[in-house]
Amino acid sequence: MLCELCGKEAGPTRPVFVEGTKLNVCQNCMRFGEEYKAQQAAGSGKAKANAPAPSAAVIEERLQKREKRMQTKDVYANTQSVELVDDYGRVIKDARLAAGMDLEQFAASIFEKKGILAKVEANDLVPDEKLMKKIEKALNIKLTEVVQSSVGTNKTPGTKMTLENFIKKK
Ligand SMILES: [Zn+2]
Repeated sequence: MLCELCGKEAGPTRPVFVEGTKLNVCQNCMRFGEEYKAQQAAGSGKAKANAPAPSAAVIEERLQKREKRMQTKDVYANTQSVELVDDYGRVIKDARLAAGMDLEQFAASIFEKKGILAKVEANDLVPDEKLMKKIEKALNIKLTEVVQSSVGTNKTPGTKMTLENFIKKK
């Protein structure tokens, strides 16, 4: 039997009420519904008994909605942050040397103190955003990298979909 809630091939199913609708569900989904009682349906619960079984289209729609919810959750679980590269000092120094400048010339070219830049090149000082941008522009280098953290995506199915959505978003 096909479970009408999760849509999986699930062996024996049982009828339960989910939000007033009778669904034949698998063992896993049973906890989402109230147990369907045939006696009740025959007697007082006429409205429920007469409610038509959901059509395939209704189930399909329900499953799609469910999937959308899960995808949305996954997309939000993906967070991106821009971080300074670990060896920014070396990157700057290499680029400066490649441009044929000593520290003093470089400092003069961007109107910064030589001592500050020496510290930055030694990875002793993290440049603030303004200085970093200035150095990046002057040497035509990139000092930041986009770090992708995907907390929680492994817990839910549909990781592939999430990745695709994410790429489209970019
Ligand atoms: Zn199920």
